[in-house]
Amino acid sequence: MAVIHVLDKHTAELIAAGEVVERPASVVKELLENSIDAGATQITISIESGGVKLIEISDNGTGIEAEYISTAFIRHATSKIEKPDDLNSIHTLGFRGEALASIASVARVELTTRTEVDEFATVYCIEGGEEVSREPGARAVGTTIRVKDLFYNTPARMKFLKKDSSEGTFVADNVAHVALSHPEVSVKFIREGKLQYVTPGDGQLRGAAYAVLGREFSRDLIELENQEGVYHIAGLITPPKSCRASRSMQHFYINGRYVRNRTMMAGMEMAFKGTMMQGKFPGGILLLQMPADLVDVNVHPAKIEARFARENDVFDVVYHAVKLALAQPGTGERLFTFE
Ligand code: ADP
Ligand code: MG
Repeated sequence: MAVIHVLDKHTAELIAAGEVVERPASVVKELLENSIDAGATQITISIESGGVKLIEISDNGTGIEAEYISTAFIRHATSKIEKPDDLNSIHTLGFRGEALASIASVARVELTTRTEVDEFATVYCIEGGEEVSREPGARAVGTTIRVKDLFYNTPARMKFLKKDSSEGTFVADNVAHVALSHPEVSVKFIREGKLQYVTPGDGQLRGAAYAVLGREFSRDLIELENQEGVYHIAGLITPPKSCRASRSMQHFYINGRYVRNRTMMAGMEMAFKGTMMQGKFPGGILLLQMPADLVDVNVHPAKIEARFARENDVFDVVYHAVKLALAQPGTGERLFTFE
């Protein structure tokens, strides 16, 4: 007869961590979301060996009060929601209370944090889910988290990682998503010791796009904005003449969160219909703001898919915004360029 038993805490923890932390890029995504949720206006990300050896993220957010640091590393511990009802109106990027616990169970983590009410910072170390040390330290208000040797204690998971340069590229994609969806935050990205970019953090999407995506792509992007009822959309799209052979330059965000979304894609592509050649796709960065209770971001653990209560409304606001932008006279030449 098979013996059925409840898994020990450590084993259960490692399984749960696998849901959240698949690769260095997932760690970076979670940590960046935490920095944004903490109100940071400046974030620096540095990775070594594609993030496997080191991920360091530093922010000027609120920090974590000394007495709550160890709690933050417990699974399902969060400051962002309290009760079932709160799930219907999520105003933060995070809410599951799983990231820090998951990351700490499969890496060596050093957290240095200080809030406005703390006299000094605390340096807290946790490895493989076990608290290692806690000491006073120095830093301005905010948080620095260093994640070292990801998957050092789970060799099976380590084997599924791609080579460092590929992992680094996945990280870069996630950093780009945060930089583009939060132009009000200055994002500095250092990859293998080399500075990749710093976004201005002045709230202007064009400046962020210029830093992240480069001059060539950003130069003649067309601005768009539209409000329909409770939906607001802003962004930049490529002029029809610079449409591409793939959808790789389509970036969709809902309430500051990167999403893969067929409705937004369809709205944008339908509006371009007749202006581009067959087999070409428009590019764009579309930032949709809408009431949290009309979108379910809870569908998938990686939170990349979204479900809408009123899909047609979303299609319409996107479609009309793009149509309007394309209808402006001189679209393509008129535009302000970076020189
Ligand atoms: P969640 O983000 O879902 O709440 P996490 O495990 O990512 O769960 O984080 C746990 C808690 O730790 C957060 O709710 C927040 O209070 C705190 N926290 C994490 N990162 C930061 C940060 N960079 N600045 C301030 N507080 C943070
Ligand atoms: Mg989080």
